[in-house]
Amino acid sequence: MTILTKHSRLIIALDFANAQQALQFVEQLDPNSCRLKVGFELFVSAGPSLVEALVKQGFKVFLDLKLHDIPNTVAAACRAAARLGVWMLNVHASGGRSMLEAAKDALAGVDSAPLLIAVTVLTSLDDRDLGQIGIERSVQEQTLGLAALAQSVGIDGVVCSAHEAQFLRQNLGDEFVLVTPGIRLHESSSDDQKRIMTPVEALRMGSDYLVIGRPITQAADPGTAVRMINAKIGGNA
Ligand code: C5P
Repeated sequence: MTILTKHSRLIIALDFANAQQALQFVEQLDPNSCRLKVGFELFVSAGPSLVEALVKQGFKVFLDLKLHDIPNTVAAACRAAARLGVWMLNVHASGGRSMLEAAKDALAGVDSAPLLIAVTVLTSLDDRDLGQIGIERSVQEQTLGLAALAQSVGIDGVVCSAHEAQFLRQNLGDEFVLVTPGIRLHESSSDDQKRIMTPVEALRMGSDYLVIGRPITQAADPGTAVRMINAKIGGNA
């Protein structure tokens, strides 16, 4: 990977209900040791001002809104996200080529443009779910098809499970960014994630960035959890 520095492969999912809880949690973190992901719940509740506050504190922020709409609307949302200073944002690859191109073009002239990442097949869907929405390809075929479409448009990478990472890396090359949730520190604690991997295993499979939420946000000492994970994956302490 050329876009990455070796450290801060860790993205902490800030899955909190409101800004106060999120900011209180973030006080325990160092922007040099991790990046942060703001998803639907927190963004809907706390809004852009929270994102700006995190950016101002020096954090690289992944705005995980999985945009999916007509090209013009998605392009406008991408420009708005870039104005907030986010480091990464994502769109659904199934929005189609024109939508992906519009998202890419919207960021073309932006200084320090965010990395643009595509969502392929949600990991909550299986082959049967795809059949029910009229998609006859298997999850794996659909994932690779959408990831290849995204790559052909110049999208920087995809969100994928660690189980898909090796396959995508082999097919899409070293420069394509793979962002991987579903990480657990021990096999025993999966929460509601069905197919988990440890941080070291996920990196071995080819993931570039690891999205980790509850194993850190619900740890007795989140700062120590971050240090332990970084020690294992070679990031900043
Ligand atoms: O707490 P946990 O580590 O399971 O959090 C994972 C984060 O990654 C959550 O914010 C979740 O929404 C997100 N995510 C995921 N699986 C996907 C895509 C995103 O768990 N396929």
